[in-house]
Amino acid sequence: MDLSARIKELAIAQGFDLAGIAPAVEADGFPRFLAWLDQGMHGEMAYLARLDMAHSHPASIFPEVKSVLVTAINYKPSQEEKPAANFGRVARYAGGADYHDILHEKLNRLLEQIRSLQPGIEGRGVVDTAPLLERDFARRAGLGWFGKNTMLINPRQGSYLLLGALLLNIELTPDPPFETRHCGSCTACLSACPTEAFPQPGVLDARKCISYLTIELKGAIAEEFRPGMGDWVFGCDICQEVCPWNRKPSPGENWREFRDPAMERLNLVELLRLSEEEFRHRFRDTPMWRPRQRGILRNACIALGNTGNPEALPDLEQACLNKEPLVREAAQWAIDRINERFSIF
Ligand code: SF4
Ligand code: SF4
Repeated sequence: MDLSARIKELAIAQGFDLAGIAPAVEADGFPRFLAWLDQGMHGEMAYLARLDMAHSHPASIFPEVKSVLVTAINYKPSQEEKPAANFGRVARYAGGADYHDILHEKLNRLLEQIRSLQPGIEGRGVVDTAPLLERDFARRAGLGWFGKNTMLINPRQGSYLLLGALLLNIELTPDPPFETRHCGSCTACLSACPTEAFPQPGVLDARKCISYLTIELKGAIAEEFRPGMGDWVFGCDICQEVCPWNRKPSPGENWREFRDPAMERLNLVELLRLSEEEFRHRFRDTPMWRPRQRGILRNACIALGNTGNPEALPDLEQACLNKEPLVREAAQWAIDRINERFSIF
């Protein structure tokens, strides 16, 4: 077996669901990425614009790179819970431990194994934290195509995929790129998006996307987007839920460590009651830490405004006394929404 095939075999043995090899060349989506930045669709994600040129080539991360091994794990849960009153939904990728840590650990273990195959091999693992257009290299490594929802879709695994890349200093045999698209005439994701975040197929205006609004945006969420947020309190999966390529049962059972049922649905009223210390203890090592307590409370208030019942009112009134103006404003908005719905004046 040649080295390229052996490396992919090791990746699968490490627990990745997909592995493919791309050459270390300029990312073919780089001009598209720059145009997207130019239109300001990245919103407040200034780190993307700051490192704009670095996204052109993986050598900006690891100068000796010659090949990019792209791996993916399928994180779709095998069973879905039904929505419950006063509970908020969390995007599936965030329903447990921080995937960055898990993937990095696996990529580092994989790199050690690869290094033992041949002297002189060096590499660097990248999981969403360095300026690499990972999806471009995933397509180039033959793992799938870009759906109209902008996600990478693999015909066997669907789109609930977390990507991780190993930049390696050796020439490997690249896999054939994935050249075809299989969305056909389907537009399910485009019409299902509750905040109309797709200005055209394959283009996402992050400023309108619930994932951005609930995770990246630091300030108040514009009122026009709040009703569309429904019960999402961290991220959103709607444009993946409706995709016919995600209908197959999940093969992702080997990623149990990734899931924590207590994290997949959050009791919104309980969230409002957590002290700073309790919040830190519960969320510090999870993706939910990123927007901090103030961001999560803002989101929880909006979700309660959209879905809550009058029993949530005392906790929302308490949230109106929060030290953060962001939380106070969202709590008052939620109270007004619930009062409107139940006509309690
Ligand atoms: S994640 Fe949700 S809000 Fe964002 S584009 Fe998809 S459906 Fe729209
Ligand atoms: S929902 Fe339809 S259009 Fe959207 S990504 Fe899936 S197959 Fe493509």
